[in-house]
Amino acid sequence: MTLTPNPSRQRPNTDIYDRRESQVRSYCNSLPRQFTHAHGVWMYDDRGGRYLDFLAGCSSLNYGHNHLVLKQALVDYIARDGITLGLDLFTEAKAEFLQAFEDIILKPRQLDYTVMFTGPTGTNAVEAALKLARKVTGRRQIIAFTNGFHGMTLGALACTGNEGKRMGAGVPLADVSHEAFDGYFGPDVDTAAQLERRLADSASGLDAPAAILVETVQGEGGLNAASFGWLRQIAEIATRHNALLIVDDIQAGCGRTGHFFSFEPAGITPDIVTLAKSLSGLGLPMALTLFRPELDQWKSGEHNGTFRGNNHAFVTAAAALRHFWQDDQFAATASRRGELLAARLEHMAKQHGFTTCGRGMMRGINVGFGARAEMIVRACFHDGLIVETSGADGEVVKILAPLIITENELMQGLDILEKALVAVKSATFPIAAE
Ligand SMILES: *Cc1c(COP(=O)(O)O)cnc(C)c1O
Repeated sequence: MTLTPNPSRQRPNTDIYDRRESQVRSYCNSLPRQFTHAHGVWMYDDRGGRYLDFLAGCSSLNYGHNHLVLKQALVDYIARDGITLGLDLFTEAKAEFLQAFEDIILKPRQLDYTVMFTGPTGTNAVEAALKLARKVTGRRQIIAFTNGFHGMTLGALACTGNEGKRMGAGVPLADVSHEAFDGYFGPDVDTAAQLERRLADSASGLDAPAAILVETVQGEGGLNAASFGWLRQIAEIATRHNALLIVDDIQAGCGRTGHFFSFEPAGITPDIVTLAKSLSGLGLPMALTLFRPELDQWKSGEHNGTFRGNNHAFVTAAAALRHFWQDDQFAATASRRGELLAARLEHMAKQHGFTTCGRGMMRGINVGFGARAEMIVRACFHDGLIVETSGADGEVVKILAPLIITENELMQGLDILEKALVAVKSATFPIAAE
C-alpha cells in the first residue's frame, strides 16, 4: 500500500515564537508548522499533518527518527539509572562505545585513530582539529576550500566560505586561505595542480599550512562532490608540504555516501577526521575528532568542555554501530538507494534543464538560483515533503533522506519533488538572478 502524505494546510499559532524567540531561527521560516512527533522517515504536526522528512536533521538522522533499537537501548539505560553526564570520566557507556567503534569501524578498515571526545557539536570537533594541527606543526595557516562549511565558532567559521555566515563574526577571520575546490573553475581546470603550484612557489604569498581542511562532498556549499582523484592529489599535496590532512566528515560521514567514512572509496587516510551529526544515531549531540596516535600531543585538559560526556549519546551511538554496521548490508542498501536517487534526479534534471550534484544519498538538483529553489521547497512542503536548499545562493534543492528509507518512500518523495519542479518551472521570477 502506498501511503500518501497528509499535510495540514494551517499555519500554527506562532505568537510565542514571535514574542520570545530570536529571529536568528531559519529552518522554521520555510517549514512553518509545529511538529509533535516523528518516526522513521515521517514527521507529524499538531494539526494532523504528516511529512516525509528529506532533510533528516541535515544528515543527523541517517537512521531515521526514533529508531526502535536505539530508542530501546536509551530507555533501558535511563531506566537503570545509567550515568547521564560524565564529563570525561570513565563510564561503562563510554567504554562500550569505544569498544564498538574499534571493533566495528576502525579495525575492519585497518584504521588506527586516537579518539578525542570534544564538546558535542560539530564545530567543536573542527575547532579541536584546527588547534591540534596548529599545535603539532607550529604553523598558523589553514587551507580550506571555496564553498566549504565547517561550523559557526570563530576558528571553524574562518574556514567557512559563505559570506552571510562569515558576516556574523564581527572580528577578522584570519589565518585561513580559501583555495578552489574541485570543479570550481569548471571541469577543465585542475585546482589541485593550482594549489600544488602555489604551495611549491616561495613567492606565491601562500604561507606553509598547518593543515588542509576539506569536505569530500560539500554539504552546505552546494553538494559539490570532489572526485576521488582530486582527493588523492590533495592528500599527496598535504604530505609533500608537511601539512596535516583534515577531512570534515560531519555531514558526509556515518554512511551518508554509502560508506561509514566518505573518504573510504577515494583510498586516502586523513591525518585527522571530524565526526558529529549522525554519530549518535538518535539525533543526540555527540562529536569526535579522530587523529593518528602520534598526533596526540595535547596536554591534559588543554581542550575540554562540560558536555564531552553525553553518555546517552554514547549508548545510542554504540547501539547504532552494532545494529547497522556489523556487516556490509546497511551500507550496500544505502548505496543502492543512492543510485536510484541519482537516476531519478538525473532524469528530472534533463527534462527540466537543470543539473544534479552530490554522491551517495547526499544529492541535489541545481535549479539555477535561490528564489526558484525556495519556491520548490515551499511547494514540496505544501504537498508533505520536507526538503531544504544548499549552495552559495541556496540554488540547490538538497535531498538528505534518512538512509533507512524504503524504495517506495523514496519514490513517493521524489514524485512530490517532480510535481513541484513542473509547477515552479512556469513561474516567473521578477528578480531572477542572471
Ligand atoms: C554541520 C556541519 C558542521 C558543524 O556542526 P554543528 O554541529 O552545527 O556545529 C561542520 N562541518 C560540516 C561539514 C557540517 O555539515
